[in-house]
Amino acid sequence: MFLGDVAVSKKDYKPSSISGAIEDLLLYIIDNNITEIVPKFSFQLGFYYSEAMRTSAKFKVSEEELLDRLVKESYATKELYDKYVRCPVCKSYRLLVQFKCPHCGSTNVNKVTLVSHVPCGYIGVLEEMKTSNEKRVCPKCEKELGKRDKDWIRIGSLYKCNECGELFEMPSVQFKCVNCGKIFDYKDAEYENIYKYKINLEKIRKLTKQIVIRTIINVLKEDGITVEVNPTLQGLSGLKHTASLLAKCDGREILIDILSEDEIDDIMSIYGKIIDLGHPDHLILVPSDTAQSLTVDETVLKIVKYNKVSDVAQLVREKIISKKEKT
Ligand SMILES: [Zn+2]
Ligand SMILES: [Zn+2]
Ligand SMILES: [Zn+2]
Repeated sequence: MFLGDVAVSKKDYKPSSISGAIEDLLLYIIDNNITEIVPKFSFQLGFYYSEAMRTSAKFKVSEEELLDRLVKESYATKELYDKYVRCPVCKSYRLLVQFKCPHCGSTNVNKVTLVSHVPCGYIGVLEEMKTSNEKRVCPKCEKELGKRDKDWIRIGSLYKCNECGELFEMPSVQFKCVNCGKIFDYKDAEYENIYKYKINLEKIRKLTKQIVIRTIINVLKEDGITVEVNPTLQGLSGLKHTASLLAKCDGREILIDILSEDEIDDIMSIYGKIIDLGHPDHLILVPSDTAQSLTVDETVLKIVKYNKVSDVAQLVREKIISKKEKT
């Protein structure tokens, strides 16, 4: 089954595609120490998760499906991040906000300042007071308003409708969708939950080796190479040894051992195993930063260093394919 094979329907391909995508995302999480996947926003895309996006584009699965799967397999927990209004018709978050008069519905409203004139006790709208010699005049006592906080006090802000003349404290809110033009208020608005994902990095780290092995299997499968997991082989001494993987390619067998950082101390037992097995193609994958401290005969040990766990599958593939080309 190849991706490019037209006979394979999308539906058939999906299961392996989503699991491949999950492995890709998990390795990315390990390599980058991601503890939280938080939404970002753009007017073009709405809310999106950049970490999941790179995988979803690569594997052609939806971000939603990918993140739901992370939660389902307890690699992450879904938590409320925030809530936002979106268009009830086209679901867009590209909205313009307008204020409306609660009495007549007009959007022609102004914010005005309510003030009190201390000497006469008049309360009214500052912006509506007449001016004389560029100074505001109190409509009740007809004297100049005077100095702020001494002669007059600001009470607060109000809205005034320019259509019906009503004064009100709180205008109604109306939204206009930039995308489809729909005009709606809070009664019709969709108030969507936006989530973030807390990553269970501990759990994922513990499974690193298993995940890496699964990605190797998937990558090699595309080249028609079959892989046996944890094969048991008999050494020259008669002892039995287990390796991480055994790849079979054009009649050749390549033995692969993957060491994680905490297993690097086992290099000597691996060394003994290699000598005993005497296998001509035995690759040992070791993290680069710990490989520096290794003092082993690299002519005997075929060490392949890796920087990121997400690179391991391609490294193995390159090693096997280059051997295939040589033969
Ligand atoms: Zn819309
Ligand atoms: Zn009005
Ligand atoms: Zn006055």
